[in-house]
Formats: sequence, structure tokens, C-alpha cells
Amino acid sequence: MILAWQDARRKAQETLDHYWDGTFPVRVSAISKKMGVTPYRATLPMGVSGMIIKEQGQEARSYADANESEERRRFTLAHELGHYVERVTLAEDNDFAFKDKREPGQYNLHEFYADEFAGSLLMPEKPFMAMVNEGRSLIEIAARFGVSLAAARKRKERLTINPPEQVGDVD
Ligand SMILES: [Zn+2]
Repeated sequence: MILAWQDARRKAQETLDHYWDGTFPVRVSAISKKMGVTPYRATLPMGVSGMIIKEQGQEARSYADANESEERRRFTLAHELGHYVERVTLAEDNDFAFKDKREPGQYNLHEFYADEFAGSLLMPEKPFMAMVNEGRSLIEIAARFGVSLAAARKRKERLTINPPEQVGDVD
């Protein structure tokens, strides 16, 4: 059985394989557009950091709050793209909406999936682990990947708790 975090990571890696030009920071807006989710920067309702809306027969739109830092907005857009991937490719759902609050209220499997996808997309495993293993500071790492310090710390934690899958290794 494939767990949510494994699937989120695999989908993020597939996305990188298809759409990433190999440069840093990963250009999440460009990738999002290519995948059919048009990203917008907007003033969102109080307490809302991002959202995604997909209606039947229409292109999806994602929103990141204009009052947030660029690093936070990048993560939000990647997170919303994670919702899209989970809904459209896994659940084959073509009509949905997620609204993300700054203060996480109900942290469910959808949110976990979107966060794991976002971290994996913005901080690709190999270059991320290379920097960790070189002993680089989280500040350097966060700057390299264009994410907040909190996001870099979380990614490191996630990769420690659930280490990368060994691909192609013989036991
Ligand atoms: Zn969300």
C-alpha cells in the first residue's frame, strides 16, 4: 500500500521530471500554469493564506495572499498545486475548492498531502539532502530554495522521519 506522503513525494518528483527546468528556486508559478492551474496573487479574506478553485469544465485557479512574503506565496502556490494533483489525478474530481487558513484548524489528510507535495516540489530531495549533508545551515538552504526557514526546517524533519525511498538499490 502506498502511503499519502509517498504518493505526494512521487507525484512531486514526476512533476519536477516533466516541468522543472533544473534551476533554483524552482519556478512554481510557471510549473503551475503548465499543469493547468493559473496562479494569482490577491488580497484574500482575513486569515486566509491561499486557495484553489476548480469548477467543472474550467481551468483551475489558485490564489496566494498578496500580503505574504514571496517565500510564503511560493509555498502556498505549491501547496494548492498539491491539492490539484490529489483531486484531479487521484480522485478524478473535477469540481472542488480548498481554502487554506493561516492558523491551521482542521489538519487532515488532504492538507498533509498538499504540504508534503509542496515541500517536495520546492525542495527537490537530492539537492536538498546534498546541502544538508554538506552541513549547510537552514538559512543557506532556505535561501537556495526560495522558501521560509520554517519550510526548510519542516522538509528536513520530514526527510528524517520518512527517509527517501531507495530507488534502484539492491538489498
Ligand atoms: Zn490546503
